[in-house]
Amino acid sequence: MKRCYFDYAATTPVAPEVLEAMLPYFKDRSGNPSAIYAEGQLARQAVEHARASVAGLINARPDEVVFLSGGTEADNMALSGVAAAGCKGRHIITTAIEHHAVLETCHQLEKNGVAVTYLPVDAEGRLDPAEVRQAIRPDTALVSVIMANNEIGTLQDLAEISGITREHGILLHTDAVQAAGRVPVDVQALGVDLLSISAHKLYGPKGVGALYIRKGTRIVPIVWGGGQERGRRSGTENVPGIVGLGKAAETAVSMMASEAARLAALRDKLIAGVLAAVPASRLNGHPSHRLPNNANFSFDHVEGESVCLNLDLEGVSASPGSACSSTSTAPSHVLLALGLPPHQAFGSLRLSLGRWTTEADIDRVLAVLPGIVARLRAMSPFRNQ
Ligand SMILES: *Cc1c(COP(=O)(O)O)cnc(C)c1O
Repeated sequence: MKRCYFDYAATTPVAPEVLEAMLPYFKDRSGNPSAIYAEGQLARQAVEHARASVAGLINARPDEVVFLSGGTEADNMALSGVAAAGCKGRHIITTAIEHHAVLETCHQLEKNGVAVTYLPVDAEGRLDPAEVRQAIRPDTALVSVIMANNEIGTLQDLAEISGITREHGILLHTDAVQAAGRVPVDVQALGVDLLSISAHKLYGPKGVGALYIRKGTRIVPIVWGGGQERGRRSGTENVPGIVGLGKAAETAVSMMASEAARLAALRDKLIAGVLAAVPASRLNGHPSHRLPNNANFSFDHVEGESVCLNLDLEGVSASPGSACSSTSTAPSHVLLALGLPPHQAFGSLRLSLGRWTTEADIDRVLAVLPGIVARLRAMSPFRNQ
């Protein structure tokens, strides 16, 4: 049976053209980009070519792009690096629905005396920019707001938020790991100063990413050593990975408009089909301000985990809404922030689409999911509550 992969928000397969671009840098072009002889210079040129490609994806200047080990490190560097620079103060504003890479960094910073405000979101996961304005203090150094949430796909209005942060001379960071390559990300139009990207969410390899740092932004490195990446991120460059990220960025630029439209149509068919066929189901996140590839559902009185295990037996790969915490059974902090009661927050399912999702895959989910939920409900001790 052909597997139906519905977890592109967790990771995307490496695209064939990306793998093809990377292979030479594992073989005959394996020089160290810092070396002055020919092999080193070949690697250096490849890294700089990739830098221009990533800059092109987000409308930045190449020298504003720093390569590092992924989205997690980019988020860590943005927050810790600005806090350490200590220009304006020791207060950070963020939201209750950030990725753990931001939230856990905030928790660590709090232990070191940084004050953090976690803003609430509405029932559809949107942050009201007025909340940002109200939370600003004289010592606020940074606002960090996730551009597209990884669980529910809700998109935030960063341009409006940056209008406020700029008025107050405060830096704005966004985790754009889910957004980059799926929706237009333009650092000028958004007005952000720092932006995180991860290659393996846009058909590149795992273990490589980028942080956009607007020229003139004061930020202290978190990884120290040989001074690579113009002193901002030490360590010998992951040349094949960087080349893969660059190629993935180029492909995203050329495919984005058509892919976004194709996926949004499939997503809408999936959402309408599930809501019609599964009683006591709801869509989590915003109906229109959402990623074209994300659908997140709650089913009353069933566990998302059990739904996923049963889908797996039917050849469908998906995540419980509380993804990334498959080892914990706590309900997702994102769904709780929407105000979902625990019996809905536990029973959530994220189906995320991508380049190889077809209409047949959607039909397959619609054929098996209603029966799975009905079976689990019939066994549930909570069904009469
Ligand atoms: C996946 C993800 C990350 C982490 O990126 P890695 O490259 O896996 O470290 C950060 N933020 C969001 C929103 C993500 O989806």
